[in-house]
Amino acid sequence: MDDRRRWTRRGFLTTTAGAVVSAGVGNALPAAVSADASPEPRTGSSDALHPFPVDRVRLTPGPFLEARDRNSRYLLSLPGDRLLRSFRVNAGLTASAEPLGGWEKPDCELRGHFTGGHYLSACALTYAATGEEEFRARANAMVVELAKCQKALGSGYLSAFPEEQFDRLRAGVKVWAPFYTYDKILRGHLDVHRLCGNAEALATAERMAAWVRNWTKGLSDAHRERILTIEYGGMNAVLYDLADVTKKEEYRDLAHWFDQKAFFDPLAARKDELTGLHANTQFPKVIGAARRYELTGETRYRDVAEYFWREVTGLRAYATGGTSDGERWETPPGVLSTALSSSSAECCCAYNMLKLTRHIFAWTADPRAADYYERTLWNHRLGTQNPEDGTLMYYYPLASGYWKFYGAPLSAFWCCTGTGAEEFAKAGDSIYFHDDAGIFVNLFIASEVKWPEKGVRLVQETAFPEQEGAAFRIETERPSSWTLRLRVPWWATRGGRVRVNGEALPAFSSPSSYLALTRTWKSGDRVELELPMSLSVAPMPDDPTVLAAMYGPLVLAGRLGSEKLTRNMTYGEYDCELKGEPVPVDAIAGDPRDVSSWIEPAARRRLAFRTRGQAKELELVPLNRLFGERYAVYWRVRPTRA
Ligand SMILES: [Zn+2]
Repeated sequence: MDDRRRWTRRGFLTTTAGAVVSAGVGNALPAAVSADASPEPRTGSSDALHPFPVDRVRLTPGPFLEARDRNSRYLLSLPGDRLLRSFRVNAGLTASAEPLGGWEKPDCELRGHFTGGHYLSACALTYAATGEEEFRARANAMVVELAKCQKALGSGYLSAFPEEQFDRLRAGVKVWAPFYTYDKILRGHLDVHRLCGNAEALATAERMAAWVRNWTKGLSDAHRERILTIEYGGMNAVLYDLADVTKKEEYRDLAHWFDQKAFFDPLAARKDELTGLHANTQFPKVIGAARRYELTGETRYRDVAEYFWREVTGLRAYATGGTSDGERWETPPGVLSTALSSSSAECCCAYNMLKLTRHIFAWTADPRAADYYERTLWNHRLGTQNPEDGTLMYYYPLASGYWKFYGAPLSAFWCCTGTGAEEFAKAGDSIYFHDDAGIFVNLFIASEVKWPEKGVRLVQETAFPEQEGAAFRIETERPSSWTLRLRVPWWATRGGRVRVNGEALPAFSSPSSYLALTRTWKSGDRVELELPMSLSVAPMPDDPTVLAAMYGPLVLAGRLGSEKLTRNMTYGEYDCELKGEPVPVDAIAGDPRDVSSWIEPAARRRLAFRTRGQAKELELVPLNRLFGERYAVYWRVRPTRA
């Protein structure tokens, strides 16, 4: 058994140790309840779990529906002709619209990444998630216009910048990231095909891929490795997806071309050589490795993905689930207390880690993967969208005394604007997974999911996190036997309770495991899950006196007020760096291991807390709800002197 298998197996054993296991708990309670202690890891893609596609899940009122709707309004506010302008100019077509700003401005080397890529993907995802025709119409109209640009260019190439950027890439002359942008445009078209049923979008994508095949022809391995040192997005991942959609092997072979040996070899050998690397350059490649494993069964690529995921989530991620500082990993694994700044944790990194986590979870059903997903979604995705106008953050400042900083609506278009627009479009994703035996509930988000193959509809009612738990209603065409697996999160350290049709079951499961309920379900069956939350600390791995406070899955932020914080300091344009000075934050007097020594719940208010025993007391609220104000996430906590 190799390391990877030991790791996975150990994960299952530790996460279920101490679980109350009770199968077939008696006639009065005809549900078999057990902790899901799958004795062997799932090893191949054939027995993997499947996330329910976005169009099977509907969000119901709650913070994620609000964020999705705000994102929808933002997408609809963007003027189509302005989005298309640079593509038309590049193709020699008439373009009279005013150019956009930021990373879409006419001299930016990444122009087109948002329009041809993220915007198409976000519209397609929103259509799938909502069924609202307006989004499909927008995506379809843009595909028509982009196809005209591709036709005018003549070679299958499609971009808002000329091929000259690729000439520089081939010649080793400085250039930003042409394949990064090309990947986004390919992905946008593939998404419009997959989610909106648009055949022309697939034809455009196939012509784009044919251009890539020509471009890569005849280059030596050494030349290719040099080219792949320049950020290339997920060119491998998108070409594997194109191969999967079309069932054409040629795209699989072309995807292999983007397999960067120098990056993958150490990961396959389980060596962390990530220090010094630009973080967001790497995730899409690893997602490509995950797709290669899923399509070909080559375990090297599963090893790459799993080892990378374990290193980043275990030793390079903050309490929020985010990773990187100043876009890079500049410190050795496990050294994070010195990597806190105004430019911590680029948002794209968290977005891409969630994408990767979805693959890891589908292979392993490892509850720790779902734990990471929840942590990152609630703390580093929700709350990065400006409630005023749907604009999005780039960095997530984690040094104390800073504030949230957004891209201006028509003059930023950062990479994180694009990934954020996609994130909130698919906010219903990864709540539910299934295998042949039943449904996994991974996230507590008000929603419903349809499983037509089994004639089942599952409705989740919750006001989480105000409500510490959720209720599930089952609707079935006919009574049917399957297993409902409810995630018992890492933070459920005070236990919990489950009721089926009003009757409490005498068993529960330990933190980081699944509570499996197997029975013949009939319409109207109702399951209620109680998961009491508590305060905890998330210490830095290299300094346990530097820590963040959490309540359940929520990272808490100390409110530092909005003094001298102007609107100009809250919005950026081309430059995504936050400008302005932080306010100083005092160390906390308390026991670093005992959060109750310095935090207590605020009287009569849910999810509000305050410090105690300090010279100056502060209020703490969930980081994802704090806007327009300075904050502190990490605290230096020093023992009180007796
Ligand atoms: Zn970004």
